[in-house]
Amino acid sequence: MKHPKNDDLYKGLKVNKGVADAPTVNPYLKKRLRRTEYTPAEFVEGILKGNITILSQAVTLVESARQEHQQVAQEIIEKCLPYAGNSIRIGITGVPGAGKSTSIDAFGMQLLNEGKKLAVLAIDPSSERSKGSILGDKTRMEELSREKNAFIRPSPSAGSLGGVARKTRETIVLCEAAGFDSVFVETVGVGQSETAVHSMVDFFLLIQLAGTGDELQGIKRGIMEMADGIIINKADGDNIEKANLAASQFWNALHLFPMPDSGWTPKVLTYSGYYKLGIKEIWDMVNEYVAFTKQNGYFSLKRNKQAKYWMYESINDTLRDTFYHNPAVEGLLKETERKVLNNELSSFIGAKQMIDVFLNDLSCK
Ligand code: GDP
Repeated sequence: MKHPKNDDLYKGLKVNKGVADAPTVNPYLKKRLRRTEYTPAEFVEGILKGNITILSQAVTLVESARQEHQQVAQEIIEKCLPYAGNSIRIGITGVPGAGKSTSIDAFGMQLLNEGKKLAVLAIDPSSERSKGSILGDKTRMEELSREKNAFIRPSPSAGSLGGVARKTRETIVLCEAAGFDSVFVETVGVGQSETAVHSMVDFFLLIQLAGTGDELQGIKRGIMEMADGIIINKADGDNIEKANLAASQFWNALHLFPMPDSGWTPKVLTYSGYYKLGIKEIWDMVNEYVAFTKQNGYFSLKRNKQAKYWMYESINDTLRDTFYHNPAVEGLLKETERKVLNNELSSFIGAKQMIDVFLNDLSCK
């Protein structure tokens, strides 16, 4: 029978008669669709084999706020831990427009050309404002995003800085277990997130721009103090001289700081991420730092310190969450706050009363 839409009225739109049940084009499709859930052991096996799809799904579990996802995620992380730790972790920060994505693309390609495998992660607690697209968005790293040895993951979506940072730290473990030997953790250089990144990387790179001669003013001293390398981007064309001037200003400023615990004197380099000039030198610096701190023992000392830091961070986070989600506390918190605001209670007595409520509630359970 002729399909009604094969009428002259629909000329040019030839519609063929369909079949009752179309044959499966891809015999594996059904099977895969059903297999959306793996057991923790299957996740671990996939990750250790370097299966990127499974790695991504595991990271999604790490990022999930759901209790049952967290349970599976923690089991996967625990099993991956013995295979983690073998990468060089590099923190990269700079204000928006400094050229982070352009530079990460260039640095990343340099590493891949050396035969490395790179994971690019991000910490951006404010990402909800931009629907998660500020950091880690694949389109920002055009070259890298096409490479099979690069794994680019946007920042976990907005939450407390501590929570977002913890998820990124756990993701590092999974990436390392999957065979990534280089990890970048990117953050916007505008707030507290540098401290979080600093506490999970081996080397901290600060990207700066040459400006009008007063570039040092805008940078928080604390961020400069954390940097193992300051790199001045956009040293190309007319900007080269300005970049060199900025470099010497940074160099002078760095010398006023006390010697870092690592014993490493931070370096200042100029480069162009866009034109890929001076990239190898940056990599030589990172390698030199790694060799230097491995030799003087600081490399593993720092990692141990970080592991301890994250244990306490995790305890603090869990305690805080349990406290604020406790129904007895939730029921009285606003009232206690009101009393403090009306000077009926001091802040400290108010706090003590709430903690007592919490502890009493726990002991009754
Ligand atoms: P981000 O916000 O820190 O990630 O910065 P982007 O990588 O998006 O770069 C911001 C702008 O600076 C873009 O227009 C880039 O093309 C430009 N840019 C980045 N690196 C360089 C460079 O090395 N030289 C020049 N001239 N421009 C650059």
